[in-house]
Amino acid sequence: MVAQRLDGKACSQEVEADLSARIQTCIENGIIPHIAVIIVGKDPASHVYVGAKIKACERLNLKSTHIELSADTKQEELRDIVDKLNQDDSVHGILIQSPLPNNLDEEELTDLIDPKKDVDGFHPTNLGRLVQGRTDGMLPCTPSGVMRLLEWAGIETKGKRAVVIGRSQNVGMPQALLLTARGADSTVTIAHSKTDNIPELCKSADIIVAAVGRPEMVKAEWVKSGAVVVDVGVNRVDDSSRERGWRLAGDVSPEVKEIASWLSPVPGGVGPMTVAMLMENTVRSAENNLN
Ligand code: NAP
Repeated sequence: MVAQRLDGKACSQEVEADLSARIQTCIENGIIPHIAVIIVGKDPASHVYVGAKIKACERLNLKSTHIELSADTKQEELRDIVDKLNQDDSVHGILIQSPLPNNLDEEELTDLIDPKKDVDGFHPTNLGRLVQGRTDGMLPCTPSGVMRLLEWAGIETKGKRAVVIGRSQNVGMPQALLLTARGADSTVTIAHSKTDNIPELCKSADIIVAAVGRPEMVKAEWVKSGAVVVDVGVNRVDDSSRERGWRLAGDVSPEVKEIASWLSPVPGGVGPMTVAMLMENTVRSAENNLN
C-alpha cells in the first residue's frame, strides 16, 4: 500500500477560496478583517512562521499589522500593547508569536488577550469552551487544521481509535479534545514522554496524530496497515547533501507511507492548514461585528 497524500496545501487553498468570499462581504459592509501579529526577538523559525501568516493575509486582502519588538522588551510594554489592541475596534485578531524570550511571561500575556480576539485559541476561556465540547468558537489553529484536513479527505473519525502523541496546550491536548468531541466521536488515547510502550499503543490505532517534535520518531512497524497518520512535527535535521546543510523532517518516518492509507507530508501537510485556520478565526471574529 502507498499512502494517499493528506495534502494541506490543496485543502488550505479551498479554505482560502471560501474565506475570500466572506472577506468580501465584510469589506462591502465596511469591515476590513484585521489581525495584529506581535513578534519579540530574532528567533529565525518564528520569523519564518510570521512571514507565512503575513503572506496569507496579503493573498486574502486581510489587513495585518506586524509589531516587531526587540528581545529586551519588558512585560509591561507588551501588556500595554495587548491592552491597546484589545480596545481598538478595528483589530479583530491578536496573535503573540510563540516562543517569547525567557524573561517574558507568555501565559500572562495570553490571558490578557480579549477572548473574542484570541485567534490562536489559547485563551483559557476558549480552551475551556473546547473542554465543554463547544467547538463553534476560537479553536487552536493546528489541531482544528488537522480536523479540517481529515474531513477534506473524507476520513471517518467516528468510532475510530485515535492515538495523539503529545499533550501540549497548543497542539496535543486540544487535538485529543477535538477528536473525541461530539461529531468527531473518536476514542482517543494521549501519549507523552512518560507513556510506556508507545509503539504498541500506535499499532492498535486507526488514526495517529504525531505532535512530538522528535524527528521521524514514528516508525513503520508502529503503524497498523491502512491507518491514517497525521504528522504535525516540524524539525530541522542536519543534511550535508543539501546546500543549506539541513532539511525539514516531521515526527513520522518516511517509510510509514508504505503502510498507512493516508499520510500528511512535511512540509505541505499540517503547516498550511494552521495558517488557513488562523485566517478563518480572524474572519470569524470580524464577522461578529457585522449587523
Ligand atoms: P511541545 O510543546 O514541545 O510538546 C511536545 C509533546 O511531545 C509533549 O507533550 C511531550 O511530552 C511529548 N514528547 C516529547 N518527547 C516524547 C517522546 N519521546 N515520546 C512521547 N512523547 C514525547 O511541542 P508542540 O508545540 O506540541 O509541537 C510538537 C511538534 O509540532 C513540534 O515539532 C512543532 O514544531 C510542531 N508544530 C507544528 C505546527 C504546524 O503548523 N505544522 C504547529 C505547532 C507545532 P511531555 O508533556 O511529557 O513533556
